[in-house]
Amino acid sequence: MKKIRISARKILSPEEVYDAGLCSECGVCGLYGDASGFEDVDFGLKPINSTNLVLPRFNNYCPGVRVDAPRTKLDKSSLGPYLEAYACFASDEELRYGGASGGVLTALLIHSMQSSENPVLSAQDMGMTAVQKLSYSMEEVTRTQGSQYRPTPFMSNSNISDLLNTSAAVLRPCQVSAISNVEVQTPLLISFYCAGVPSRSTFEGLIKHMGINDLDQIHSVRFRGRGWPGKFQVENRNQVLAKLTYEESWGYLGKGVLERCNICPDAIGDKADIVGADPWSIIDGRPSFEESPGVTAIFLRTEKGKKAFDNAVKAGKIIVMNPLNIESFISVQKHQFRRRGTSIARNLAHILITGYGLRIKGYSKQLLTVSPWEILRDFLRSLRKFRNNSRIKSSEI
Ligand SMILES: Cc1cc2nc3c(=O)[nH]c(=O)nc-3n(C[C@H](O)[C@H](O)[C@H](O)COP(=O)(O)OP(=O)(O)OC[C@H]3O[C@@H](n4cnc5c(N)ncnc54)[C@H](O)[C@@H]3O)c2cc1C
Ligand code: SF4
Ligand code: SF4
Repeated sequence: MKKIRISARKILSPEEVYDAGLCSECGVCGLYGDASGFEDVDFGLKPINSTNLVLPRFNNYCPGVRVDAPRTKLDKSSLGPYLEAYACFASDEELRYGGASGGVLTALLIHSMQSSENPVLSAQDMGMTAVQKLSYSMEEVTRTQGSQYRPTPFMSNSNISDLLNTSAAVLRPCQVSAISNVEVQTPLLISFYCAGVPSRSTFEGLIKHMGINDLDQIHSVRFRGRGWPGKFQVENRNQVLAKLTYEESWGYLGKGVLERCNICPDAIGDKADIVGADPWSIIDGRPSFEESPGVTAIFLRTEKGKKAFDNAVKAGKIIVMNPLNIESFISVQKHQFRRRGTSIARNLAHILITGYGLRIKGYSKQLLTVSPWEILRDFLRSLRKFRNNSRIKSSEI
């Protein structure tokens, strides 16, 4: 019988992170030159080890190796650290309508770009792919609105200085965590509550499930937005090919998020300056996905974030409705907080099944935010899930 290992094996390279099921496809190792590129594989984008790999640095930032909670007195447990939180929307009606929720993240990017004249970084739909790219004008930034529920690699040949020379960047929480682990001076880091990124194969599966088999014709994929939440919509150059409601599409995509997302302790951007999320209303005790005018829940986590937000409000780019109703927000984001509370138990399940897991620091008190029953249930479910996951090679189980 094989011995069960309780401590995680050491990770030695980006490829090894990927093979261990711990890669969030964040792309940061590419920016630092520790990966020489990304290979298209069945599940997604696998980093290729670079001859320039600097292992101590890589182990310091890679979110497939370590995740540290920020050290701050502001920590508000489940919600992470924040100074203030608001319900708000972009004053520009088109931005509000086009945004994933209230268009506030894009309004912040535009204001930041116009105030500094530096570019901003955000994710652009390219049809069957999406890319994180620099924008230099309001029109370009506006085209990057909405949520990309898929990995968004950085534009080709980009490096860390491209990101650091922006005035603001929208990044997934794991990307923010990676960058802020090594960089002292960063642009305004904007992030969002993140339920996980569906793998490329899940995304393609959904498109085929909708009856579209010729993937080459696809010109645009909108996951939500143009309304709140808006529709999942696939288009060729001339017409809409298929549409699903937000609930239908996420019902499919949410079942196939990356393995790393299943153990994520920080999916709410603890280290970002500003974080956006959905303050859904509650009907019959459940979040309602009825179409409504968009509203973004904004958490200002740092003084830098607060200053940027206040300036955008003063400049008339963002309209604040009211301080966020925290009680109601917690009840619509229950799933997110349970994942966060049980992430240490899920990580343990990953180690038991694969031998590999994250080095998680500063998140143990999250265990107190969930019941022992929830911890046990998520631990057992994770054991089953990781055992069944085909990406894990049987020799490693
Ligand atoms: C993968 C994913 C999971 C999410 N899960 C949740 C959740 O569980 N709960 C919740 O409340 N909210 C979640 N959101 C956030 C939510 O969809 C909105 O982004 C948020 O409400 C802000 O809306 P907005 O209208 O202000 O943003 P917009 O004005 O539409 O701007 C969104 C910005 O995010 C950028 N962006 C989109 N996708 C990505 C990506 N994959 N990587 C990096 N940048 C990207 C866009 O380019 C744009 O700059 C998720 C978003 C994503 C991308
Ligand atoms: S998690 Fe990010 S930094 Fe780590 S190997 Fe994957 S792409 Fe590279
Ligand atoms: S759930 Fe965590 S690991 Fe997955 S994309 Fe979101 S922040 Fe990254």
